[in-house]
Amino acid sequence: MQNQLSRRIARRIEDQVRQTIISAHKRSGVVLFSDTTLRDGEQMPGATLDPHEKLRIAKALERAGVHSLDAGFPASSEADIAAIRLMIGQVTGPVLTALCRTLRSDVDAADHALDGNPVHKRGVSLFCGTSPLHREHKLNKSRVEILEIIESTVSYAAERFRIVAFSPEDASRTEPDFLCECYRTAIDAGATTIGFPDTVGLLTPEKTRDFIRRIQDHVPNIDRALLAVHFHNDLGLAVANTLAGIAEGANVVQCTVNGIGERAGNASLEEVVMALTMHQDQYRRHHRIDTTTLFPLCQLVAELTGIAIPRMKPIGGANVFATEAGIHQDGLLKNPDTYLPFRPEAVGAGEIQLVLGRHSGRRAVAHRLQCLAIPFNDERLAVIVEHLKQLPKGTVVTDDLLRTLVSH
Ligand code: MN
Repeated sequence: MQNQLSRRIARRIEDQVRQTIISAHKRSGVVLFSDTTLRDGEQMPGATLDPHEKLRIAKALERAGVHSLDAGFPASSEADIAAIRLMIGQVTGPVLTALCRTLRSDVDAADHALDGNPVHKRGVSLFCGTSPLHREHKLNKSRVEILEIIESTVSYAAERFRIVAFSPEDASRTEPDFLCECYRTAIDAGATTIGFPDTVGLLTPEKTRDFIRRIQDHVPNIDRALLAVHFHNDLGLAVANTLAGIAEGANVVQCTVNGIGERAGNASLEEVVMALTMHQDQYRRHHRIDTTTLFPLCQLVAELTGIAIPRMKPIGGANVFATEAGIHQDGLLKNPDTYLPFRPEAVGAGEIQLVLGRHSGRRAVAHRLQCLAIPFNDERLAVIVEHLKQLPKGTVVTDDLLRTLVSH
């Protein structure tokens, strides 16, 4: 009797703690970044990481300032458990969350894997297919059965974790009224975050806004949970959709570094961060990411996953701060802002590269000769520039090649 009473009181206090934290996050308007590079990103074919590599990336994400890390799927792999065990005590800033199906055994596996991490830094992220396709073809369950599963597993998780997220898989193809019913059930059962995953990446920004607005308006207990969004890039719209979600008040965004992930990948963390940073006037939402860590973070993830960054990829790509065109080079030398949306140092990248080639003009060539301390006069400069124009297509003029050209 006494025991039961004290348990009930403890539960009450715990509920109040959860609500205080959630309300504070919601009121602050801060966009919380939940990184899933180590789980959804690593799910990409060929991107496998060993536990020590995951730890290095987790530490870099911690330095960047992410709020939480989707650290792995303990029920699915021993390697994921090993990686999570390594992070405990070493990665102390972000909340570490583990992915679970709506199975009590998955929640138990997560509980074991995260054992030893403080209660406010460990969480579970449960998912269950809710769309007609998933219900009929994958799970063979009715709507009522799905709601029962959500209720029973989320409440089971809430008894073991303070931080419990629930995501209806394939949300963007789930009937909106049923989707809201799933969320209401999950929040009543103790979910502290509800997720909106566009699992197959088919939404547009306009439809995203409609969905998120509908959830905000039709889930009666939405003020008791954070709303997280998760977009895939099958139409190249993952970042745009993430921003649309933010515009409609999403609290948490799930992203991966370099946008790596299944099929066409996920919303890329560095792009969402920079779009938010540059358009404070529009979104009026703050974030806690140190933008100067982004470029090195992108390079680290590329190096350890072996998934190279495309040259033209925003933020981390090799071409982003390089130009060969004469007019652009001339402008950049006069003032870097003439042909850049932001300076390289804003994202922790190196200097602007004025690549010499067929399209380069006198000013850039002169600049490079000065940097290399090679003496020249106007006449000689004109000859060198003319020479560059004759080079075979695609030739990049390295410093050595330039020296050779000058000496001949
Ligand atoms: Mn995903």
